[in-house]
Amino acid sequence: MKVLKFGGTSVANAENISKVIVILVQESKKQNVAVVVSALGGVTDALIKTGELATEKDVSYITVFENIRERHLETIQSLMSKAQSNAVIKTVEAKLEELKNLLHGIYLINEFSDKTRDKVLSFGELLSSYIISKALKLKIEKSSLKDSRELIVTDNLHSQANVNTNETNIRISSFFKSNKDKVVVLPGFVSRSEEGETTTLGRGGSDYTAALIASSLKVSDLEIWTDVSGMFTANPKLVKQAFPIEEISYQEAMELSHFGAKVLYPPTVQPALQKNIPIYIKNTFQPEAKGTLISKKAASKNGPVRGISHVENIALVTLEGNGMVGVPGFSKRLFSTLSTAQINVVLITQASSEHSICVGVYSEDAKLAKRILDNEFAYEISLKKIKPLLVEDNLAIIAVVGDNMKNHQGISGRMFRSLGQNNVNVRAIAQGASERNISAVIAHKDIKKALVSLHNRFFEKQVKILNLFLVGVGNVGSILLDQILQQQEYLNENLLLNIKVVGVSNSKKMVFDEEGINLRHWKDLIKKGQPRTNQTFFNAVKEFNLSNSIFIDVTANEDVAKTYASYLKESISVIACNKIACSSTYKSYRELKDLSRKYGASFLFETNVGAGLPVIYTLNNLINSGDKITSIQAVLSGSLNFIFNNFNENNSFHGVVKQAQKEGYTEPDPRIDLSGVDVARKILILAREAGYRMDLKDIKNESFLPKGSLEAKTTDEFYKTLKANDSHFETIYAEANEKDCQLKYVAEFNEGKAAVGLKAVDKNHPFYNLEGKDNIVLFYSERYAQQPLIIKGAGAGAEVTASGLFADIITLGRN
Ligand code: ADP
Ligand code: ASP
Ligand code: MG
Repeated sequence: MKVLKFGGTSVANAENISKVIVILVQESKKQNVAVVVSALGGVTDALIKTGELATEKDVSYITVFENIRERHLETIQSLMSKAQSNAVIKTVEAKLEELKNLLHGIYLINEFSDKTRDKVLSFGELLSSYIISKALKLKIEKSSLKDSRELIVTDNLHSQANVNTNETNIRISSFFKSNKDKVVVLPGFVSRSEEGETTTLGRGGSDYTAALIASSLKVSDLEIWTDVSGMFTANPKLVKQAFPIEEISYQEAMELSHFGAKVLYPPTVQPALQKNIPIYIKNTFQPEAKGTLISKKAASKNGPVRGISHVENIALVTLEGNGMVGVPGFSKRLFSTLSTAQINVVLITQASSEHSICVGVYSEDAKLAKRILDNEFAYEISLKKIKPLLVEDNLAIIAVVGDNMKNHQGISGRMFRSLGQNNVNVRAIAQGASERNISAVIAHKDIKKALVSLHNRFFEKQVKILNLFLVGVGNVGSILLDQILQQQEYLNENLLLNIKVVGVSNSKKMVFDEEGINLRHWKDLIKKGQPRTNQTFFNAVKEFNLSNSIFIDVTANEDVAKTYASYLKESISVIACNKIACSSTYKSYRELKDLSRKYGASFLFETNVGAGLPVIYTLNNLINSGDKITSIQAVLSGSLNFIFNNFNENNSFHGVVKQAQKEGYTEPDPRIDLSGVDVARKILILAREAGYRMDLKDIKNESFLPKGSLEAKTTDEFYKTLKANDSHFETIYAEANEKDCQLKYVAEFNEGKAAVGLKAVDKNHPFYNLEGKDNIVLFYSERYAQQPLIIKGAGAGAEVTASGLFADIITLGRN
């Protein structure tokens, strides 16, 4: 014999009930079956609502009641013909009338006690089981209905009754001994007290009903049929990557369900465990799926962690004070006070100093817990031996569960590192003595992030998700998005990186998609986006609260650069193409570096110098491996190099500058390049990265521009002054040419001093042959004392800059 239980969604309507009947017809061919059913999905909640409204004297309880009525009648009419349904409807209407009278009574006397509540709620299962048994009868003649209240005997703790297992076992065994039917349908959840009153087994209790029957009859299998294909590695509604666990032990299933895996009501496991009956979790809507087998010993496939679960609406209650140290009895009083008030303690931690005890309770119990405990310890509080009870609300528990965790080292380390890296603050920690679970109390708002990152850590070791938020979709930004689109699949397969662009913004609008913006259509999507400011963009990124979030600045905007600190403080990494932040005051550069370290978030800006060339990367490697930079010689401006390589007797200086701007080699404002400021910023960043404390004013900058050009207020005016001074530039060129030299705009750093300026270099100089828009950097260090370490290549252009940003993203992903 088998026991099958079908949950609320499985019997929510006629269509679903028909699926249940197909399964039952199949099963009943193989053996006898007991079928436990829940109320039609959502009906229990609706019944609670009617009772609550009625007791508040709100007549809209009648509307809710009518909805319940209609749902049941509709279901009957769709399941059977008119002729077949007449008698069924009559009985159901009679039952509904009874319910209506009960609700009217509640309305009149303003009272909805637990005892009355149980009576009202029982209608859900009593109606569903009756209707299903009638529909089943049309397919299986030898089938019948049995009211579970006649079998399951409890105490009178209404809403959460305790089962008298001896009496219940006797009744179940004797009923089934005399039963001749192939299939017996029974309502879940409902029971009766020794005094003969209707009781219920707690929300979700139909699972337990099924387990009690299974255990009494020592059946071969207990099957819990629901709306998902098994017990998942984490709640599938919150963690997309979660997958069904094939096998799990009784203890593991108990832990997971105790810590919130709603798919199984926690008390269900015990009766099955005692008789060693395997429990299968199956999907009514995908009966062919394997589901989960819960049994004594489960094979371990995915490492020592079996699943991750969470409980919402938790409050921490802390008893704290020096008066507790070394004095026995405090915890006993704490727990017995809570237990007398029937407050469930979900989690316990105690600091080893005995200076405080902290327990997790459900939020709904927090107020009461504080009142009764403050009362219990009033004397000690008045003597200031302990503090008044501290209650913190809006918390949740997250638990990592697995039988085998005790045999593996470092699991809690991995768990808390992963939470820390994602800025999930842990308020309290508990580890069961069995080492089967490690639980942490976290803020409610962090649940999803914590689940996703722990799931990623323990079950998807393979693929790491990076969530990108990009600001600035000009030339470089849009090429970066193209490059990401093109490489997404490759990175997923080869580097196990899943790169998602979750947010994109230009200066006016922003668009977000947690699943990743479709990069084929980002231009259209952004047009329809919401208006943005730096603040609203930041708020949105923070609100998403995703693990491995990365903010990418592809602007040259000062205000955007000012927002980096706020991202880093949220443990959101920053990748900047914009060099303003790293080249502003030393203090703010240092602050960003420190924040990055403090909050475990990366701050990368490789493209600040030499576009895609690995200049900063190389410099960092030298420093990190213990080398010391003594001198840097470099040509760091692709635009100036382009300009001086193309400027000769056949063209004008201002014409070449225009051409450089047109081809995208200069900053949007060419004055920043030609004044030498851009190069000064770059050598400043290199000096700082080499460990020197410097500011922009410390860098000598002798400009080759005439005074008028330096003072130009606009780009247009600037071009005019260049034109007016053509002869000035021709002279510079002629003088260099005469000496057989090339003009190069050179940045130098020497033992703490830096300068930038135009130089005429001769044939023997390594810069002489530098072509086009190339950059070159010579690092002299203690290890590279005679011959410098040289990096050379294209140092400007949208393609290479975008690929430099991409390299930063990948570096960050592989950390
Ligand atoms: P039923 O009405 O069939 O008893 P429940 O709603 O009680 O169904 O339980 C099934 C639901 O439990 C799933 O739809 C899912 O949202 C939720 N759930 C939470 N944690 C888990 C988990 N670890 N595995 C599977 N489902 C889970
Ligand atoms: N109908 C009850 C509830 O919703 C019991 C159950 O479905 O298991 O809690
Ligand atoms: Mg359930």
